[in-house]
Amino acid sequence: MSQKGFRHDMNKCLECRACVVSCKDKNDLPVGVNFNAIEERERRKFPDVYVWFTLKMCRHCSKPACVAACPTSAMTKDDDTGMVYVKEDVCIGCGACVKSCPYGAVQIREDTKKAAKCNGCIDMLKRGELPVCVASCTSRCLTLADVDELRKESGLVRAVNDDVSPEKTEPNLYYKPKKGMRA
Ligand code: SF4
Repeated sequence: MSQKGFRHDMNKCLECRACVVSCKDKNDLPVGVNFNAIEERERRKFPDVYVWFTLKMCRHCSKPACVAACPTSAMTKDDDTGMVYVKEDVCIGCGACVKSCPYGAVQIREDTKKAAKCNGCIDMLKRGELPVCVASCTSRCLTLADVDELRKESGLVRAVNDDVSPEKTEPNLYYKPKKGMRA
């Protein structure tokens, strides 16, 4: 299986949220539904404030907990790209995927009663195009590559939550931490 991964360089992110808007537009998402977000983090106090921006989205894990938890195989991992996506016609809206994802990347939509999440713009990838979040990134801080390449790049860290081991799902979103990052 080929596996693509996302790379977010915190040193270049401008917090313009073009990635968020383009995703919402492409997927025609209603108010309250987003497949990605830019979160502002802050440490220390004025005048010594330290701010950085973190991209939140599905990690398209190599061992996706959502796929393992889905009772109908509606949550699927694509062999060609490694992207994880929902087959809406098979989804029964039970929410097992929502509970299983350690990164809060899945939700049940109010309007459709089905699981919804980033699908890595799998339709565009299969046409040889980039996902809209990557294509629209104004500072080119968000990129997509084969994970084998990302793993070789020095200075990248896997995007995990403090209380989740990367081995649990093997997430494929990588951060380039902001220079001088410290507590
Ligand atoms: Fe599934 Fe969550 Fe991993 Fe995305 S981040 S593949 S929703 S377990």
